[in-house]
This record gives sequence, C-alpha cells and structure tokens, in this order.
Amino acid sequence: MVSLGERCPPSGRAGDLAALSELDEAALLSGLRERFLSQHIYTDIGDILIAVNPFQPLPLYGREVSERYQRLQTDSLPPHIFAVAGRAYHAMLGRRGGGPRNQCILVSGESGAGKTESAKLLLQQIMNLCKGNSQLEQQILQVNPLLEAFGNAQTVMNDNSSRFGKYIQLRFQKNTVRGAKLSEYLLEKSRVVQQDAGERNFHIFYYMFAGLSSEEKEMYGLLDPSLYRYVSGQFGTQNVAQRWKDKYQEVCNALDMVGFQEQEQVDMQTILAGVLSLGNVTFDPEESSGPVKVSEASKGWLKAAAGQFGVQEDELLKCLVCTMSVTRGEQIQRFHTQQQAEDARDSIAKMVYGRVFGWIVRKINELLAENVDPEVELKEIGILDIFGFENFPVNRFEQLCINLANEQLQHFFNHHIFQMEQAAYKEEGLPWETITFNNNEPILNLLLAKPLGLLSLLDEQSAFPQATDKTFVDKLNSSFKGNLHFQPARGHVLGFSITHYAGKVQYDARGFLEKNRDTLPANVRGLFISSVTPLLSVLFTATVSRTGTLMPHMKAKVIPGADDKFNSTRKQSVGAQFRHSLMVLMERLYSANPHFVRCVKPNSQKEPGVVDNQMVLLQLQYNGLLETIRIRRDGFSWRPFFEEFAERYAILLVKPGVSLTKESCLEILQSTELKGWICGKSRLFFKYWHQEQLAKCVERLERAA
Ligand code: ATP
Ligand code: MG
Repeated sequence: MVSLGERCPPSGRAGDLAALSELDEAALLSGLRERFLSQHIYTDIGDILIAVNPFQPLPLYGREVSERYQRLQTDSLPPHIFAVAGRAYHAMLGRRGGGPRNQCILVSGESGAGKTESAKLLLQQIMNLCKGNSQLEQQILQVNPLLEAFGNAQTVMNDNSSRFGKYIQLRFQKNTVRGAKLSEYLLEKSRVVQQDAGERNFHIFYYMFAGLSSEEKEMYGLLDPSLYRYVSGQFGTQNVAQRWKDKYQEVCNALDMVGFQEQEQVDMQTILAGVLSLGNVTFDPEESSGPVKVSEASKGWLKAAAGQFGVQEDELLKCLVCTMSVTRGEQIQRFHTQQQAEDARDSIAKMVYGRVFGWIVRKINELLAENVDPEVELKEIGILDIFGFENFPVNRFEQLCINLANEQLQHFFNHHIFQMEQAAYKEEGLPWETITFNNNEPILNLLLAKPLGLLSLLDEQSAFPQATDKTFVDKLNSSFKGNLHFQPARGHVLGFSITHYAGKVQYDARGFLEKNRDTLPANVRGLFISSVTPLLSVLFTATVSRTGTLMPHMKAKVIPGADDKFNSTRKQSVGAQFRHSLMVLMERLYSANPHFVRCVKPNSQKEPGVVDNQMVLLQLQYNGLLETIRIRRDGFSWRPFFEEFAERYAILLVKPGVSLTKESCLEILQSTELKGWICGKSRLFFKYWHQEQLAKCVERLERAA
C-alpha cells in the first residue's frame, strides 16, 4: 500500500483506533476490549463511532456532559455519541465547512446492540443543541416512548426489541427545529398473534392491563390477561406490574403531548381490546358441508370482539368462516376449513394492529409537520434505527426483507467510505493502491434486478393464482443456477440459501407467496368500513399517498397515482412496497452527508463487563470495520475543492481580496501548522482530523481579534 501523508492523528484524539500502529483484527479487538473494560464504551475509528453496549446505566449522559459536547470543537474530548450529534448539527448549519447541508446518521448493529438507545441519545442531544425549548421539541421527544410502546417487544435477544425500522427526519430552519417526519419499515405484525417461547407481544398490551383502572377495563371489555391466547408470558412480580403501570402513564402522556384526541385514544384502546378478544375465537373441526362453526365456548369472545370493533357479529363471523369472491359478475361463497378459519382470524388481527400502528405514525407526521412558508429552505438531520442483519435457525420472508435492507445499507456504507473516496484519488491523479472491500452489488442484483431478481420473481408468482411456494422455489432454482450467491436447498426442504455480505442464510420458503400478497379480502374491508367506531372505519377507508398523507376517499374508489394499498384487487405486494420505501430511503441517504454509528453487542447474556471475543469479532467482520480503519487511517475523508476551501478559510490570511485559487489555498495552509494534507488537481485532500484543526485556527484568530 502506498501511504500518503501523516498516518496517525495528532495526539489529543484519545480513543481513536485509526491511530493504532498495528492494524489487524486482533489489535482492533483488543483495543476495543481494553477500552470497554475500563468503561470507555465509545471508540472512534476516524469519524465513525463504535458504541459497545455496557448493559448497565453509566453516568455518561448528564447535563454537564451534554453541555461539554455542544461546543463546535470536540476533538479533545473522548469519543461520545453526543459528539456525533454535534458534528451532524454543526455540519447541517454549515459550520464545519462546505455550506449548510442535509445530514443523516446511520445507526447499525445486531439486535440488542444498542441502536435504539443510541438513536434516543442522538435525538436528545440534537434537541439540546437547538435549545429552543419549544413545544415542538417536547413533542418530538415524546415520539420514542409512543413508538416503543406499540412497536417494541421483549424477545430472547433484547427486552426492548424494536420490531420495526424507523427513520426520523428533523427539519430545521437555520438552527431552529420546525418539524419532524417519521418513516417506519416492516412492523413485525405476526407478533400480534404468536410469540416464540420466552418472548412477548408488543408492550402496549401489557401496559394496558397494568395501567387501566378496573372501570376502564370494564369499559373496554378487557378481562384477566391470563385469559387471552395472544398475550403470552407471565404477568410476574409486583415490580414489573408497577413498571408497566408507569409506562402506561408515560404512553398516555405522550399521546396527549403529541396531540392525539381523547376520543382517538379511547377508540384505539377499544380496537386493541377487540384484537385480543378476536384471538380467543376458536372453531370446531369442519363437517362435510356448510361452514365451520365457532366453538361453543368461544361464542362470547366473538360477541365481545364484534362489540369492540363496532361491527355486526354475524358479519364478522362471515369473514372468519368463508371467503367471498366475484367471478363473472356472480358472487361466490367458499367455506373455510377449521385451519382456514383460524388463519382468517389471525390475519384480521394482524391487519387491524398493523393499521393502528400505521395510523399512529401518520398521525405523528401530521402533528409534527412543519408549518412554514414553502419558500423557506429547510435542512434536515435524519436518524436511521433499523433492524440489523438476521440469521436465525428458521428464516422467513421477514428476514429476507430485513437482510435486503442491510445489504442496501452496507452498499451505501461501502459506496461512501470506499468507492467515492477512491474515485476522487483516481480523478485527481493521486498514487493510491485500491483497498479491496467486499462489494455486495451482485447480491443486491440477485435480490432486486428487474425482471429477473428474486423479488420480481416472487411478485410474478404471487400474481398467479395457481402458483405455490414450491413453484416459486423451482423458479428460483432455475433462474439462479450457478449464481455464486444463491444455493438451492438440499434434500426435500422447501427453501434456498443466500450468501449475504454478512454470511450465508438459509430461508424457509413456506408462506412467501401468502406474505407477499398480504391480501385484504373485500368482505373484511367492507366489514370494517361499516364499523361504528370512527377510527376503525377510517383505518380501512383511507388510502395513503406516496408522500404519506392521509387521504380519506369513497369506498374502493381508486385515486389515480396514489398507492392504493388497501384495495384488494390492485394492491402492491409487500415486497414491492418495501422495495419502494427502501428506494425512497436510499435516495434520501445518498443526498445527505452521512455519519455512522456502529453498535456492538459484547455478549449474548446481556451482562455488564463481559466481552465475548468471538461474538465481537464476528460483528467487526460483518461491519467491514477493519477495512474501515485502514481507509480512515490511510485515506483522506475531507476533499474540498479549491474555491470552496479558499472562500471559507481566506480569513486566516488576515488580508482583503484573497482569490479563490489553488495558490491562495496553499498560502492559507502554509500559514497554519497543518501537516499531512495533499494538493490535487482541483481539490485538497485532508485527513478527518484536519477539519477540526482548521476550525481551531479560525477560533484562535477570532479570539485574538
Ligand atoms: P433491537 O434491534 O432488538 O431493537 P437495539 O440495537 O435497538 O436492538 P437497544 O434496545 O438500543 O438495542 O438496547 C438494548 C438494551 O441494552 C437497552 O434496553 C439497555 O438496557 C441496554 N443499553 C443499550 N445502550 C445502552 C447505553 N448506552 N447505556 C446503558 N445501557 C444501554
Ligand atoms: Mg431497537
């Protein structure tokens, strides 16, 4: 490798592993480990922050610390999540050179690594930085408790695991926050009806049982939690109950604060109670003719569910025991088997919960939208907290989507860190031996190519009434024969494997078609539209435009150009919707200046002070962190053009009329003590620490003046 300029950051940058003299996995691991064991959970690799989950509260986030990290220059302070918030905020305002620009912060890591906690700390510090203390800031801070109650759950990996991905965009006019916009990705709806051993349903159900008074429970028709099939897990100790009760209060406060109406809150909880009652409806084995019957013992639950949903009991029953379809203008009724009736029940429950969640997000977006003149230019900081790479004993359609998102993000990371940087060296004629990195483009092609990528093939099969998961797998096997990243399953297993950037994952193909179609039968839709509960009727009547605004419209009428998510006949598949929302996200990320936070889970027992070397090493490898260190140490992450640089730092020459040329740039730089930069054909090449050094020079000058 040809190394250019200074390789190590100047002393004073404590905790920067790009300064390691030895550079291999072992050195990186032991560097991180040593720091972690002395309670330094944050480590920099150049401008990338590594955060190792301490699994214990540490006194790192108090007011005094927050204030210390609000300064423009934080390079003499230890690495910290607040420093990332500061860098993004000041860069958004153009205080770090290069003019005001949109920023994005990507927080990644596996389940339980600390992404959501990091994202919350970032949000909190950014709100502290803009110090407006406005109502809007308070509302924005309430978004997290709200989303966590409805979208998080206890899993074996994490007691507060996010079962959805989110991107929150904070929109600023100069240094004042004016609005926020939230996007959510792939809520794990299946959790509503089924949880694996040791896991729970979404928090909100437990909070409701613990937090509602007896009168309120009676009003909502909620009985003892142990009676509900959908609610698993112990109700446990007094301690837990008290915590849930407090959490319930927190959710109610957040709903009030963000601006949800009283009636909306009541409706929402009644609907959730309805979901639980519905879950208790069971069916007798089918007889030779006629529909399956609701078992005698669960008739009361059917009645309760109908009451809570505000619909006719016999209409609800029809949706459970038969499917209506129209063929050649004639309505045809097909009776369900016992299994089909149970599936219909669960699918309605998932659909209702999913829509409540989607509605909460849309409502938050309406309430927090900026109210400014369209002429006013807003800049934004986005924070992405999205599920990490998943590889379980059984991987389904959901895992495929999650892993696809991770491939996209890895590609973005590679693009930013490796490709853009190296392309600039080449253009400017710098001697630079390319650092090889694991380019995952072929995997993205395998998944996303049109018309022959995996998702397209899945859509093609989903549109075929006769197709099955088996025909889908056959199609994949023939289309991807010989593809290095695809392997057919061995033996009679209905599945396939994909070699992702982070390892090989075996997928179980059962249920792929059904999940991708996610059809809402017309009679179910009609049932809920007729509900006397206004909220429920809205949930099934409304359609969502691409921009995410709610557009109520008449029954089943299609608004041209809108995402007709709720029309069973012309609905986009789940895969296609996800692909679309990922594309929108990637566009946003590519047009912003990124900051990376890589969260690391030190052990799987969630123990403080314990580092499982093997586990950490694997995460470092998934993340490509070794290559990252190398490029951060040997590379030049800041590459301003001559004009841009001269304009900003002419002030250092303390004379009027500095021209915006290469010569001026050199003159400016010679007036400083900066070492290790390089001059190209049209721009300068700086190490990541030079920016802060220059800012210091400016500050010194201003102080002297
Ligand atoms: P998932 O993908 O499952 O949502 P995650 O990466 O979002 O996981 P978090 O929920 O942020 O993980 O963190 C898991 C737990 O680890 C937290 O509930 C908290 O107990 C602990 N934790 C994470 N970060 C910190 C921190 N900075 N200080 C103290 N504890 C932390
Ligand atoms: Mg999380």
